[in-house]
Amino acid sequence: MVNLSIIIPAYNEQNRIASRLEECLRYFRKQKYSFEIIVVNDGSTDKTIDVVKKFKDIKLVNYFPNHGKGYAVRTGVLKAKGKYILFSDADMSTPIEELGKLIGFIRDYDLVIASRALKESKVNTLGYRKFLGRIFNLFVNLLVVPGVKDTQCGFKLFKRGAALKLFNKQRIERWAFDVEILFLSKKLGYKIKEVGVEWNHFDHNGVTPTGESFKMLKEIFKIRWNWILRRYK
Ligand code: UDP
Ligand code: MG
Repeated sequence: MVNLSIIIPAYNEQNRIASRLEECLRYFRKQKYSFEIIVVNDGSTDKTIDVVKKFKDIKLVNYFPNHGKGYAVRTGVLKAKGKYILFSDADMSTPIEELGKLIGFIRDYDLVIASRALKESKVNTLGYRKFLGRIFNLFVNLLVVPGVKDTQCGFKLFKRGAALKLFNKQRIERWAFDVEILFLSKKLGYKIKEVGVEWNHFDHNGVTPTGESFKMLKEIFKIRWNWILRRYK
């Protein structure tokens, strides 16, 4: 069995994914545990596949067309062999070195999630993004997951059992899937630890949650609705 699986969802990442994968490999080769890196190509229309295929030590999962980050992460998680499973954005907005901090807690928690909203977080981003993020968190806290300060940071570590259970129940395929996963974690009584990390904003694609705030809000209501209709059984 592999100790750690890292799942990287990738949609049109041809320009930045190679350097990020090299960083990842450099980091993991220095660690004492065994690992596997799984890139899930979420229906990219650029050359992401060709770029990733050059990495012999990285597993590539492919499908077409694009389904959304939530769907991509689930596809990777369900293929992962690791005792622990991390998913990370392809742009490495949270530098991979931050993983050490999360691993420090995973023994005592079911999931350990990176956070941009704690005192010790170091966030480099644009003012309006910070502002939108706060409003979003406020809504999420009121409506679905009280107590989690930042649900959206793309860097989350799970114990295998928890990850499989959660992603098998997941229904939201796009941006709000993090919220759904955390909502379900609370319902299942899982222990969640939020850890402050460094986070750097990198612009790209234009397919960012900021442009999709309204759709996300709709997804948040859908989580509540799904719960009422007992769709998570
Ligand atoms: N992503 C994906 N499918 C999509 C959109 C994005 O798999 O339909 C991936 C993307 O390749 C990246 C992660 O989700 O690894 C986060 O996307 P991005 O960095 O564009 O989001 P932002 O940092 O702007 O929130
Ligand atoms: Mg990003």
